[in-house]
Amino acid sequence: MEKPLYPSTYMRITQGYMMGTHIDSYAIDEAGKDTGISSLKAPFTGVIKKIYKSDANEVWLESVDKVLYPDGTQDYMTILFVHDNNVDNLFIGQVINKGTEFYQEGVKGEASGNHCHIECGQGKFTGTGWHQNTKGYWSINNGKKPEECLWIDDSITIINDMGYNFKKIIPVATTPPTEKPAETKPSQPTTPPTEKPAETKPSQPTTPPIEKPAETKPSQPSTPATTEPKKETTTTNKPKLIFTCSKDDLYAINLKKGQKLYLE
Ligand SMILES: [Zn+2]
Repeated sequence: MEKPLYPSTYMRITQGYMMGTHIDSYAIDEAGKDTGISSLKAPFTGVIKKIYKSDANEVWLESVDKVLYPDGTQDYMTILFVHDNNVDNLFIGQVINKGTEFYQEGVKGEASGNHCHIECGQGKFTGTGWHQNTKGYWSINNGKKPEECLWIDDSITIINDMGYNFKKIIPVATTPPTEKPAETKPSQPTTPPTEKPAETKPSQPTTPPIEKPAETKPSQPSTPATTEPKKETTTTNKPKLIFTCSKDDLYAINLKKGQKLYLE
């Protein structure tokens, strides 16, 4: 889901919302890097719904899909651009890809200097796209604060944000690389011995364990095997205690040929 990006590479807001000619609207004036004419990018992939050339070359761009607002809202978005000196390059139904420069700052419509009047509205293009507000100014339908609609990122240089708290898109590209090596590290120690692909990993861990016990088995039996026979031989050489004499007396004992009698 696209995150609508602030349409100007340089943010230099010269008039905020709810003030001056923007009273009773969430419109802002974006003047770009300097007093010259800067280009504006499509904040999202959208389709042009309306072009109003008889006033200030107003253009309404509606998102082709729902977008993710910085405040968490997931909905379509319509954005209004105003003051381009010439919009003959644009037509209704035209699809503009996100990030494409398609609109220019200008002074069309009695603007005091090169800038672009921008208004964001939540949802699809509705009605005529705008309405006359309580102060007599024409304002986009379903208007919403720009910082609640547009994101910023490291590609945007902020000269004047008018104190609005625009939410920054945190690059996610740096996170996966650190997570991936962490995941493969524990499996790598077992892999190097065989250097086989990850698919054979399950069989590899089972193999080494089998080999290891197999190596220890021959050594273990050999050790006790050598000591046990020695014990047997030593016991046969040593005299066996048959009985302990409880008192001084004469004892008669039958000995068979070859048997030995030890007394101590
Ligand atoms: Zn304005």
